Amino acid sequence: MIVNEAWSIDEGEARVSALFEKTFGAVPQAVHSAPGRVNVIGEHTDYNGGYALPMALPHRTYAAVTKRDDRVVRLVSAQEAGVREVNLDDVDRYDSDNPVEGWPAYVVGVAWALEQQGKPKMPGMDVAIDSCVPFGAGLSSSAALECAVAAAWDSFMAQEDDWTPLLASDEGRSELVQACIAAENHIAGAPTGGMDQAASLRCKEGHVILLDSKDFSLRHIPFDLASAGLEMLVVDTRAPHKLADGQYAKRRATCEASAKKLGVEYLADLDYNVDMSELTEVERMRTRHVITEIARTLDFAELLESGELTGERLEKLGNLMTESHESLRVDYEVTCPELDAVVTTALEHGAIGARMTGGGFGGSAIALVPVEKVDDVMTAVEARFAQEGFNEPHFLHAVPSAPAN
Ligand code: ADP
Ligand code: MG
Repeated sequence: MIVNEAWSIDEGEARVSALFEKTFGAVPQAVHSAPGRVNVIGEHTDYNGGYALPMALPHRTYAAVTKRDDRVVRLVSAQEAGVREVNLDDVDRYDSDNPVEGWPAYVVGVAWALEQQGKPKMPGMDVAIDSCVPFGAGLSSSAALECAVAAAWDSFMAQEDDWTPLLASDEGRSELVQACIAAENHIAGAPTGGMDQAASLRCKEGHVILLDSKDFSLRHIPFDLASAGLEMLVVDTRAPHKLADGQYAKRRATCEASAKKLGVEYLADLDYNVDMSELTEVERMRTRHVITEIARTLDFAELLESGELTGERLEKLGNLMTESHESLRVDYEVTCPELDAVVTTALEHGAIGARMTGGGFGGSAIALVPVEKVDDVMTAVEARFAQEGFNEPHFLHAVPSAPAN
C-alpha cells in the first residue's frame, strides 16, 4: 500500500535547503511554501462563473530562495533534471517566438505577471524547489509551485521601502492569486480557472473555502473532519490521462457556446429551470451538469454551515458528493474507469460519499470515510485496481491545511 504522506514543515524546509546548498553552494536566505489543494465539490464550474469548494492539502511545495542583484533566475527542482537559468528580461508569452521552456515557466511567469500588474521590476533569485504534492494528479502541484515563489518575490520586495507586503492581507493575497493565474495562462500556457491559486493562497487551516469564481470573493467554512471521526481520503489513480488537455478545452468551448445561445455571459447566470430546447443534446448535458453542480455546491456549503457533521446532515453531504460524480460521469463525460472504480468501491466499503476531483480523465478521486473504515476502503480500492489491471493507486490523507507563506 503506497501512502503519500505529507512532510512536516520542518522536513520540507530541511530537504529544500539541502538541495539549495548542494546546488548553489550557500545557505538560502529564506524558505517559502504553498499547499496543493483538493476540490471537495464544484467541478468544472470555475470557468462557468460558478462556485467551487476547495481546501488546502497538508502536502506543500517548498521553495528555498536567495535574492540576487541582477535579473537572473537560477532554478533547480528535486522533481526535474538539471539546473536552469532564465533572465527575467527575456520572459515572453508561451505562444511567442521565444517561450520559456518547461517547468521554469511557472516560476518566472509569476515575476512577469507581477510586473504586468504595474508593480516594480522584480529581482532575480536562486531558487531550489522540492515538493510532496504529486505532479499532474489533479491536486494542483502547478499552483503550489507558483504560489510558493509568489511568496518569495513578495518578501524580497517587502525589504524595499515602497512595497506593502501582499501576503499580509487577503486583498494582497488576491493580487498574488491573479499574478499566479496569469503566469500559468500566459507563460506556462495552461488554461486554468483560478480555483487552485485561490485555494493555495487564501485558504485557512481547518476550513474549506466557498469560492465564487466570478469575482473571487470567498467564505471560509469550518470543516473539522477529525472531531467528527471522519477522513477525506484522496486516491491518486495514476491513470494515464492523455486525453485531458484537448477535452478540457472542448468542454470550455461547449459551455461558452451554450451560454451564448441562451443569452447569458456564464452558465452560472441561468435559472435552474431554464428552457434548453435550442441546445444540442451534448450542450444540454454539459449545461445540466454545470447548473446542477453549482446548486450542489451551494447546498453542500449551506449544510456545512448549519451544524455538526453527523446523522442526516452527513448523509446528505455524502450524497451530494456522489451525485456530483454521477453528473460528471453521465452529463459531463470526464470520468474514466479508474475514477469510477474508486467511487463504487469506496461506497461499497463504507464511504459516506465519493467523487472524482479536478479536471477528470485520470487524476484523483476523494472519499468521505468514517475513520474506522479508511483501511477497509484503501485495501478494497487497491485490490480492485489490481484486479482490473490498473496502475497501483497512491493514497493521501487530506486535512484542511494552512495557506502559502
Ligand atoms: P497539477 O494537477 O499537478 O497541477 P499540472 O499539469 O497543472 O498538474 O502541473 C504540473 C506541472 O507543474 C509539471 O509538469 C511541472 O512543469 C510543474 N511543476 C509542479 N511541481 C513542480 C516541482 N516540484 N518542480 C518542478 N516543476 C513542477
Ligand atoms: Mg495544475
